[in-house]
Amino acid sequence: MQVHPTIAGLRAALAPHRLQRIAFVPTMGNLHDGHIALMTEARKHADIVVASIFVNRLQFRPGEDFEAYPRTFEADCARLIGAGVDYLFAPNETEMYPQPQQYHIEPPMEHQGVLEGEFRPGHFRGVATVVAKLFAIVQPQVALFGKKDFQQVMVIKNMVREMGFLIEVIDTPTIRADDGLALSSRNGYLSDQERAEAPRLARELTKVVTAIRSGNRDFSGLENAAKEVLKSNGWEPDYIAIRRKSDLQSPSAHESELVVLAAAKLGSTRLIDNMEV
Ligand code: AMP
Repeated sequence: MQVHPTIAGLRAALAPHRLQRIAFVPTMGNLHDGHIALMTEARKHADIVVASIFVNRLQFRPGEDFEAYPRTFEADCARLIGAGVDYLFAPNETEMYPQPQQYHIEPPMEHQGVLEGEFRPGHFRGVATVVAKLFAIVQPQVALFGKKDFQQVMVIKNMVREMGFLIEVIDTPTIRADDGLALSSRNGYLSDQERAEAPRLARELTKVVTAIRSGNRDFSGLENAAKEVLKSNGWEPDYIAIRRKSDLQSPSAHESELVVLAAAKLGSTRLIDNMEV
């Protein structure tokens, strides 16, 4: 695997591959099996697999965990080599943002103002902006994103369509630990006791999904019940929301194609998860 810290270096390295199919998997590093599943899937869609590791300041709010975000570059490289990744783009901040980024991709408020975007204002503007910039640098034919960040995939698919990027966006299922907890770099912040409690989030989502599948259409009742269970077990839920998959807006009672999304704090760690109905 070649590692490129500069845009110019990566472009030169990819130049001979321009007639081949290039798949791209952007990450913020601290790689786990969820990330590796994306790399493995990428290999099925392309001749060349390019990954990136970049902790993107633009998508963090002041007071969030940008500084503390786990950076484990050596271990990440070993995992990417094991997954057969061909090129790693690993820029530092000055390479990506030599001066403060002044041009941004601004997703519509219906997409960036709800759910994660309501609790992390500006997050999806930061995500869309860095992903557009990475797309311009790598110029892949295919890009892969995990459904773990369901709203992120929705924003990126819409951005690609509206901006006319010639890129196929593929989403992949959430990889979970044996006890159901969705793998996340932020799981590393949990104490042993919190780690034991953490799978409750996925269990509550499963309960909501099961209830909807068996005909319960009292969406707000289901959302509130799950929230109460979390609260009574020490969580601080931001939202538990049953939404339409396509645009993440609230569904009417007869709709199908739904997803249940959740974000909740356990101690000082904020976890997100979702399950499709
Ligand atoms: P991140 O490094 O958190 O920005 O994630 C990089 C990519 O990995 C994103 O497309 C995520 O949605 C995806 N990802 C993160 N966790 C998981 C998981 N548990 N299962 C599948 N994909 C994941």
